[in-house]
Amino acid sequence: MPGEHLRPGPADDVAAAEQFLMNLPAPWTPWPQTARSLAPVLATTAAARGWHLGTALRAQLTDRPDGIRSHPAVLSARIRQLPNRPPPARCASCGAPGSLVHANGQSPRPVCVPCATVPAGPPSADPAAQAAAVRSAIRAGRRARRR
Ligand SMILES: [Zn+2]
Repeated sequence: MPGEHLRPGPADDVAAAEQFLMNLPAPWTPWPQTARSLAPVLATTAAARGWHLGTALRAQLTDRPDGIRSHPAVLSARIRQLPNRPPPARCASCGAPGSLVHANGQSPRPVCVPCATVPAGPPSADPAAQAAAVRSAIRAGRRARRR
């Protein structure tokens, strides 16, 4: 179709982006006209930078709302200057991505829930116990990835 390359993105992505903008919390909720004009930019930029229209993007766009005079202008600038999405945090112990917690008295770096709930004792000298620990870590990693 002639002129298709001028379209900023698939129409349903733009519609989803417009809906996403209209659902931003106050004081970020744009006027419908503003949402309509920003939606194609958001759809294109978010796709290019690896963001989904979800809570992480909402948090990124609505961060630090205090001291801002014009939220629409800041929202527009943030959409246009959207950085690449940071890679998901990984467990400091087993390397699994997912929701991480800070385990008390263990590692200062965040670990996944299975690693936090299983106390990491000194490695056993018993080969059978070592194999069991490895199997358990692999299972924990699979569990975390499935989430
Ligand atoms: Zn872990």
